[in-house]
Amino acid sequence: MKPVVTEALVTLIIVLIASLIGAWDDGVLGASVMAFCALGLILLRHLWWLSQLIYWARAPQERSPPTVLGAWGELCDLLYQQIRKATKETKLATTELERLRLAAEVLPEGVVILDDQRVIEWMNWEAEACFGLNAATDIGSRFTHLLREPVLLDYLNTAGRGAKPLKLTTQRNPGHTLQVQTVPFAAGRTLLMVRDVTQLEKLATMRRDFVANVSHELKTPLTVTLGFIETAADALGDASPDELAHYLRMASEQALRMQNLIEDLLMLSSLETDSPPMEEDVNLSALLAGVCEEAKVLSAGRQNISLTMSGSSHLVGSSRELHSVFSNLVTNAVRYTPKGGEIALRWDAGVTGGRFAVTDTGIGIAAEHLPRLTERFYRVDHGRSREMGGTGLGLAIVKHVLERHQAQFDIRSEPGKGSTFSVVFPAHRMR
Ligand code: ADP
Repeated sequence: MKPVVTEALVTLIIVLIASLIGAWDDGVLGASVMAFCALGLILLRHLWWLSQLIYWARAPQERSPPTVLGAWGELCDLLYQQIRKATKETKLATTELERLRLAAEVLPEGVVILDDQRVIEWMNWEAEACFGLNAATDIGSRFTHLLREPVLLDYLNTAGRGAKPLKLTTQRNPGHTLQVQTVPFAAGRTLLMVRDVTQLEKLATMRRDFVANVSHELKTPLTVTLGFIETAADALGDASPDELAHYLRMASEQALRMQNLIEDLLMLSSLETDSPPMEEDVNLSALLAGVCEEAKVLSAGRQNISLTMSGSSHLVGSSRELHSVFSNLVTNAVRYTPKGGEIALRWDAGVTGGRFAVTDTGIGIAAEHLPRLTERFYRVDHGRSREMGGTGLGLAIVKHVLERHQAQFDIRSEPGKGSTFSVVFPAHRMR
């Protein structure tokens, strides 16, 4: 039987019994008084339970449900179940929301949520960094008051869904290129996404400059070669064999320049794309002796070249790449050291690692050029480098190879006195 029906029956029985007792004692008046008293007591009991329920319902999560009987008990149970279900659902939703918030917080992309008045409702850490904002103080402020770049305001006013991203620099984060994109969503709100593309822009510029440089470097010898070939062809009937040989020699020198350049470019490209260097046991005694011999051939007696070695001469790495490093450094020393100069190659190995140094008494390099020497095509003196057959890529290759071998590169130089280019290999590369 349902509690409400039981409750009604019990009430009825109690009132009936009370009325009968009253009637037994004092007739109709007694029955009425007793029935009234019984009803009053029952009402008081209901009011007490009701007040207990109201007291509990004010803070159901903090208080335990009251012990009430009958229909109130059933009502209390139902309320209790509903509250537990709602609490569970709210907890679940809060956890989900928190998880989403945390995920959005660590997104590599900056996200700002703006309301229909462009007031910042929320932003993640990356957005703070990109726009130079502070969530603690700037949430609740109008975004367009904080970032006043006209191009951005214009973009916010006009760009709709699917609009192309906008690239801009801001006063709040100078020196950084940002890429922003807006996505309108519910109730006039806007999702503003931002990315710091400074590095990408730099890379794109470097790539453009590189292509322009390569084209320029190839164009000059190609034009000169063509010129010599045309001259030789025009003079074929009239020129002496000596003159023709001269033209052909000049043409072949330029072709050699192009070949060197292409070889260096291929080397750079393989260094950039290849997997880690080979782990060979490189015998530096043999390798450096070879490099020294090559340098002597190139020098043709103009400089005095020496090689000294101490400690272990076995290194783990790629012999092809290491040969390229030593050869580039020694060739440069020969190129930039005038006649009669000294060039000393030195290898020292100990427990902390191995050090190779090339010291020359050449023309030296002014301090302002030192940080840029390993950039591609950077030359202190373009004319001299070309005249000496330099490609402008030698030290860029050296830097790449050394990075791949976890080695340090150091350049000390003084104009007019000479230079020391040294390379320090870590202990784990020594055998
Ligand atoms: P390059 O092919 O022009 O020699 P590198 O990348 O090998 O290109 O060197 C970059 C520049 O560094 C050279 O153009 C030259 O100006 C300078 N340089 C390199 N080595 C020396 C050196 N031993 N003495 C003086 N200058 C040097």
